[in-house]
Amino acid sequence: MFQDTMTRKPFSPAHDLFRDQVRRFVETEILPYHDDWDEQGVVSREVWKKAGAAGMLCPTVPEAYGGSGADYLFSVVVIEEMARVGATGPGFSIHSEMAAPYLESFGSDDQKEYWLPRLVRGEAISGLALTEPGAGSDLRRMTTSAKKTNSGYVLNGQKVFISNGQLGDVFFVAAKTKNEYATDSVSLFLVEAETPGFKRGRNLKKIGAKAQDTSELFFDNVEVPHENLVGEEEGKGFFQLMHGLARERLTIAVSSLAKSEGAFRETLAYAAERELFHKKLTDFQNTQFKLAEVQTELTVGRCLVDRLLEDYLNNDLSADTAAAAKLWTTEMQGRTVDTCLQLFGGWGYMWEYPIARAYAEARVERVAGGSSEVMKSIICKSLFKKMDIKADFS
Ligand SMILES: Cc1cc2nc3c(=O)[nH]c(=O)nc-3n(C[C@H](O)[C@H](O)[C@H](O)COP(=O)(O)OP(=O)(O)OC[C@H]3O[C@@H](n4cnc5c(N)ncnc54)[C@H](O)[C@@H]3O)c2cc1C
Repeated sequence: MFQDTMTRKPFSPAHDLFRDQVRRFVETEILPYHDDWDEQGVVSREVWKKAGAAGMLCPTVPEAYGGSGADYLFSVVVIEEMARVGATGPGFSIHSEMAAPYLESFGSDDQKEYWLPRLVRGEAISGLALTEPGAGSDLRRMTTSAKKTNSGYVLNGQKVFISNGQLGDVFFVAAKTKNEYATDSVSLFLVEAETPGFKRGRNLKKIGAKAQDTSELFFDNVEVPHENLVGEEEGKGFFQLMHGLARERLTIAVSSLAKSEGAFRETLAYAAERELFHKKLTDFQNTQFKLAEVQTELTVGRCLVDRLLEDYLNNDLSADTAAAAKLWTTEMQGRTVDTCLQLFGGWGYMWEYPIARAYAEARVERVAGGSSEVMKSIICKSLFKKMDIKADFS
């Protein structure tokens, strides 16, 4: 397997030890239950608590807030070990890498003291609620509003496609504190699922990642105290979202590459066994060339991702480079998983085969977390800015 033959420079023996523990956890606490979760459209709360106890949730949260204060590579280990075997049900990475970091970076001491230990232990599950039926890539179009009152804010509106939507106990919700199509019109709020007026909608049926509870959320006069504003001032939502994007997109790149590697491993095993025309599938030159092409893509991906992990750890990963990594790895995942599925013939189309799931699950990566087109626009904007070229990107 590729990872075993190429030294992964950023990782130390401590990371390797943690990887062994996480791999065992995934094998014993996740995989045996995953088919049932796929049927139910949601994973158990139990697995979150167990993952918390195993140190797999929010590993980078400082010890002062109940975390292990580990570096981001410990998060990477969790993401990779789940991705390589297609364990897409538990939304750990949304919780640990895309929601909780807003609290770490912008939360008040009270918010951190209350929420972070609960998030680390898996006693509270978090989600990030940005997208609305009429606003995804163009978030300035969002209509969920947060009107100021004497004691806080009243939220009204609707969100859609929210990961951890059925299980979530607390959501980072983007809402407009100013009714304008402007970057300073949005603020982030912590909204607890128990707050009156908060309602979960449908757990949406998807073509892949079926155990992941991707849901609608509704806000009907939801009153939150002033302390639930994330950050000290209103109107900083976009700035806060931008701040977290490099990590979020690197996380997707890490996951996409590991999913591609997992699909490739399955394919190698299948091709080495499958017989046709009195030969093994691997005896055909076409198969050998396809496998070589995929292996080459994975090698390029591994060099890219591991280099950017080092940059991120050195505080040197720019938003446009992270966007390029997300763009390339997710497109590569689509190409390679498609090539792999072809080698399975008709069996590749059957849900009982992991490659069929990998194929369906690969499709979302080019859309969620910022689509490929949005990544291209970020990359181009940054390129033109560096070269002082004026262009209309609206
Ligand atoms: C499984 C899943 C989980 C998700 N989880 C979450 C979550 O936890 N929280 C959350 O807030 N959201 C979540 N999302 C939403 C996701 O981030 C959005 O779907 C995504 O940002 C795209 O928005 P949209 O669906 O409204 O598509 P639109 O924005 O309507 O895009 C339509 C098309 O226009 C293209 N486009 C966009 N901008 C440009 C441009 N500048 N030039 C040319 N074409 C462009 C897009 O690429 C796409 O092809 C999730 C989505 C899915 C499918």
